Amino acid sequence: MEIPQFLGRQEHEAIDSSTQEVPILPSNAIGDTQAGPPHEALFIILTYLPLLELLSMNQVCTSLRDAVNTDVLSWLNIIVEKPLNLRLCDQILMKITSKANGRLRTLALMNCARITDDALQRVIEQNPLINKLYLPACAGLTPEGVIRAVKTLSERGRGLKSIMINGIYNIHKQHLETLESYLHEMNLDRQKEQPGSWPLLYDEYMDSPTFRHDKGHIPIDLEVCPKCDEVRMVFDCPRWSCKRKIERSMTECKGCKFCILRCRECGGCVDSQEIEEAVCADILCSNCWLKLPKCNFCNKPYCRQHTNNGGCASGSAGFICEVCYNKFIVNLHSIVEVGHF
Ligand SMILES: [Zn+2]
Ligand SMILES: [Zn+2]
Ligand SMILES: [Zn+2]
Ligand SMILES: [Zn+2]
Ligand SMILES: [Zn+2]
Repeated sequence: MEIPQFLGRQEHEAIDSSTQEVPILPSNAIGDTQAGPPHEALFIILTYLPLLELLSMNQVCTSLRDAVNTDVLSWLNIIVEKPLNLRLCDQILMKITSKANGRLRTLALMNCARITDDALQRVIEQNPLINKLYLPACAGLTPEGVIRAVKTLSERGRGLKSIMINGIYNIHKQHLETLESYLHEMNLDRQKEQPGSWPLLYDEYMDSPTFRHDKGHIPIDLEVCPKCDEVRMVFDCPRWSCKRKIERSMTECKGCKFCILRCRECGGCVDSQEIEEAVCADILCSNCWLKLPKCNFCNKPYCRQHTNNGGCASGSAGFICEVCYNKFIVNLHSIVEVGHF
């Protein structure tokens, strides 16, 4: 099999024709005494594997472990999310990022509360080519630490395009302005998106938090909320009637999640008389509530995102939500036993 040129496989040893028939798992993994290098195809697959799977490869066998550890291309985009995020500490971060040999492109630490400013700075100094730096809810970082990291990137690699910092405490307007100026300086040659061409919609963000950043539509996830004047994520409203108002510069329902309640299904603003609750405790607008299937017992729906998290089918007639199942069905035996039935 031929490896496409664009993958630039200089990092691993050339595999000669005698190894063409070697299976993906080397022979010693299936009990043979002769160990062989992993099949070339494996290296193509590695670049698509999530971090957890990549690390799991270490456990399979030594030959696979060595192959994965020396394949720099597999480590250029490091995305740490659930469940690894809870266990990621500074030392592990240093170890994982060192595998990229200074060529890291994406560093996405999603909700990694144990990472400190110093560890972030060391990774940045060793990897000046980072172009996406996502640090949402990394509560162990400070605004000053993030600014130092971004400043370092602006002085060295200058390739940084996008950062996510929502959920880091105490970010004020001055911090935001400093970060914006560094990012602006690094992206002078990029064509500016038209304001409003990629609105931030609540439901889209909840479904795929990094989407707008991955596509390069936005350099920073925070802005100043027009309602409360705090630095937060500011959502736009997809409701047609509200969009028309925005065109007339009446931004009543553009705001952070603390200022404007939003429907989990459609992202539209919901006023207090209209609020409907889902089983999963998410807020819904009455339109979306009407369209969703409801629990046979409590008449509440699940939002789309949480539909598969609970709910026990009760034939074709509907479902029983997790809450009602635990309350009525699981307790049925005890109710019958103590003679309440
Ligand atoms: Zn606000
Ligand atoms: Zn809705
Ligand atoms: Zn609205
Ligand atoms: Zn129910
Ligand atoms: Zn929900």
